[in-house]
Amino acid sequence: MALRGTNQEFGRPYNRRIVLETIRLSAPVSRADIAGKVGLTVQTVSNITRELELQGFIRGIRQRARGRGHPPTALAVNPEGGFAIGLHVTPIGVDAALINLAGDVIARRERGAPPADPKKAFALFGEMVRDIRAVRPKGRMLGIGMAMPGPIGVESMSFVGSTTLEGWQGIDFAPRLEAATGLPAFVGIDIAAAALGDQLYGAGRAYRDFYYLYFGVGLGGTMVHDGVVMRGARGNAGEIGHLPLVPGGELCPCGNRGCLERYLSLDALDRRLRRKNGRADLRTAIDRGSPVIDQWIGEAAPLLRAAVVTIENLFDPETIVIGGMMPESLLARLVAAAEPLLHSIAEHDRRTAPRLTLAREGKDGVLRGAAALAVSGVLSPRFGLLFAGDEERGERDPIMSPASKREVAA
Ligand SMILES: [Zn+2]
Repeated sequence: MALRGTNQEFGRPYNRRIVLETIRLSAPVSRADIAGKVGLTVQTVSNITRELELQGFIRGIRQRARGRGHPPTALAVNPEGGFAIGLHVTPIGVDAALINLAGDVIARRERGAPPADPKKAFALFGEMVRDIRAVRPKGRMLGIGMAMPGPIGVESMSFVGSTTLEGWQGIDFAPRLEAATGLPAFVGIDIAAAALGDQLYGAGRAYRDFYYLYFGVGLGGTMVHDGVVMRGARGNAGEIGHLPLVPGGELCPCGNRGCLERYLSLDALDRRLRRKNGRADLRTAIDRGSPVIDQWIGEAAPLLRAAVVTIENLFDPETIVIGGMMPESLLARLVAAAEPLLHSIAEHDRRTAPRLTLAREGKDGVLRGAAALAVSGVLSPRFGLLFAGDEERGERDPIMSPASKREVAA
């Protein structure tokens, strides 16, 4: 992590964020270790942590003594010291969750497909957020993070086709969300949010380098390298679903033929169910069993096998974590059907992790990741600079405002 403090006069809100973010990501951690990590003196770090403790963001944890002497007090976040909202918007549903500073899901709300009219959709998001905030009426809300299908800003792929929010181009998402909810808003692609959530709280915690294969409505994925989600030059890396792996195959809304996502995705399964049964109910089909699902697994497994080899040979991950919106029982069947996997560089003699790892988080993974986007956003030094010099004038900085006062904002 490259967070470094500053000794400049304007640096107080800036340093406060760096210290809190370091505690959040490295807890339990001692003051001396924080000072070493961020390049501030132990005295400066102690002043800041005292302030953060008074504000209820962090708490001390007595550690077991190592050797002689007084055991050092380590610091960790106070889970109820702050909250963020994770919002996940897809063409088939809207999910919202209230997440605490430790990443626990406190409450969640679910709605069906969002209104096609963005104005109505944002009104719905505002309503869902007000409803879920009522679960912790005195809680300090840091912000809201929204995850949505990508890519963004790509002419042939953005906002076209049934795996995207069709027709939503040209919307300034973050300002609209901020206006609808009264909270600092951050927007990201669902693939990145899911990978971030998994890296912070899920199966990915055990790995430094892993690939997250994300079954949303479509199919995406991203490499987490050295603990950082790789997003590419424009933030759109990860559209593995648009690899044209089936020559001369089905036409994709992106304009190419044979894209992986046309076969290996919830959308693909849904289309097959509809073709057979008219109105499809995926949940019922899974629960009761369906020949369409069996057939789809037979068709999709070889493509998953091809995707796995492609990912392994390109990125050399420790493992590929497979998760997202697809029900876990279905993912487990698909993964089992993809065995035996094809040969790749993953078959090395030092292998300890399985080549494929199922994520256990289900839909919560992306919601926790979306909330983490907001927490990291508000705690980023860049956000802190907005408040530089404001300290004497008032309480604009959301991380220093008392929880009860901020409540009125909604
Ligand atoms: Zn495509």
